[in-house]
Amino acid sequence: MSDKTTVVRHLDIVVAWDEAERRHVYLDDADLVFRGNEVVHVGPGYDGTSDRTLDGKGLMAIPGLVNVHSHPFSEPGNKGITEEHASDKLGQSSLYEYLPVFGMEADAAGASCKVAVSELLKSGVTTVTDLSVPREGWLDDLAATGIRAVVCPMMREGYWFTRDGHTVDYAWDKGAGAQAFATALKTIDLAAQHPSGRLSGMLGPSQIDTCTEGYFKDALAEARRRGIPMQTHAGQAIVEFNEMVRRHGKTPIEWLDQIGVLGPDLVIGHCIFLNDHPQLHWPHSDDFARLRASGAAVAHCPTVFARRGIALNTIGRYMNAGIPLGLGTDTFPHNMIDEMRLACYVARILTGNYKMGTARHAFEAATIGGAKILRRPDLGRLAPGCKADFSLVDLDHPYMQPAHEPLRSLIYSASERAIRDVYVDGLQVVRDGKVLTIDLDAETTRMVDGQRRRLATVPQRDWAGRTADQLAPPVYSKTDRLPQSRPVT
Ligand SMILES: [Zn+2]
Repeated sequence: MSDKTTVVRHLDIVVAWDEAERRHVYLDDADLVFRGNEVVHVGPGYDGTSDRTLDGKGLMAIPGLVNVHSHPFSEPGNKGITEEHASDKLGQSSLYEYLPVFGMEADAAGASCKVAVSELLKSGVTTVTDLSVPREGWLDDLAATGIRAVVCPMMREGYWFTRDGHTVDYAWDKGAGAQAFATALKTIDLAAQHPSGRLSGMLGPSQIDTCTEGYFKDALAEARRRGIPMQTHAGQAIVEFNEMVRRHGKTPIEWLDQIGVLGPDLVIGHCIFLNDHPQLHWPHSDDFARLRASGAAVAHCPTVFARRGIALNTIGRYMNAGIPLGLGTDTFPHNMIDEMRLACYVARILTGNYKMGTARHAFEAATIGGAKILRRPDLGRLAPGCKADFSLVDLDHPYMQPAHEPLRSLIYSASERAIRDVYVDGLQVVRDGKVLTIDLDAETTRMVDGQRRRLATVPQRDWAGRTADQLAPPVYSKTDRLPQSRPVT
């Protein structure tokens, strides 16, 4: 690691961290200085030495965004499919009939990951939490992109399936679960030792309904031994809520609490279906209070649920109550600024209250919220001692204008279009909106081929033998010729 000092001089605005007030503030006409991979100065009039000076005029520096939940190995393969299709008889979820049959061919997972990470970097994400099925080369793929990554190897003892499209069954294989657990631990430990210095790990018992009590407890013990968090999916589907009630007579939150894993070491992916969610009819519990008292965190991914008419209730309500909340992309497009904007809008629509999702909620979730979940006080903020993970936003970009309130212009109007340069660990990974670390054309070709091959075999996996187009009809059907004999009048 080079220990050269870089000064970004006279930035119009820096979103800087005020440690005394414990919040972000706008600093005008400030210098951002980093040495090697660490920020050493944020503020006007740096008068120390430097090896390189960059002109910050017309730019805003923002802290690197922290993504706490994504599946880059497979989600790009669902493009064109899951935006508009789900199971009508299984709570409008795509979990049971769609995710198992679509996704990405295994040999294209690396390409899929790199394409997804390129989108993340361009949207200002400098840290990604990657929940994937472990594969050969996973860690090196992530490291090569230049991003900072937390690997969360998915492991489970059971999997769901449907025989009829209206009931969900579970197949259990404890041996496979134990093997996945061992692989996960090995992967997590290798990540911590990775020579890039940018990788770490998180325990990942995949879903509340595919892991048993003992499995969760063992995972929590291993997480605590390593001082890292554990993430699972829970409260992500009405089918899952009802399944937990069927099995245990408890809501998902009540069951996690009962088995002793609902606490500060747990990150809950989605955590939407608390008993008081308006789409459930379940006044007989106090999940929200239980969640708040536990210290467990929530990974909020608005897009993937908005597609199915589902929303967390709400980012403002959770954050105002002090529940640790970070943002994730989960699906394509891998764009954190889109997620920020949508987090605001879905909260307002669900409650009829514009204060329940604001730019401040969304930006804090995407920066310090995620950093807190990952136990990284040196990420998600710009202050001396923090990692040099940041983006430079082009304030003069047409979509930013008028840049009267620059974060609002970024979140509500310009999105990733205005993110010009991105640095991770003091190294530039995006220049003028182009990713420097990924051969995007080559990886995209591989990724597209991986989806094409996966789509061809969908009938072999679908319970009813349907084709991809039958499961997810295109917007328009194709035709060889137009049947009308007369011009349209
Ligand atoms: Zn997920």
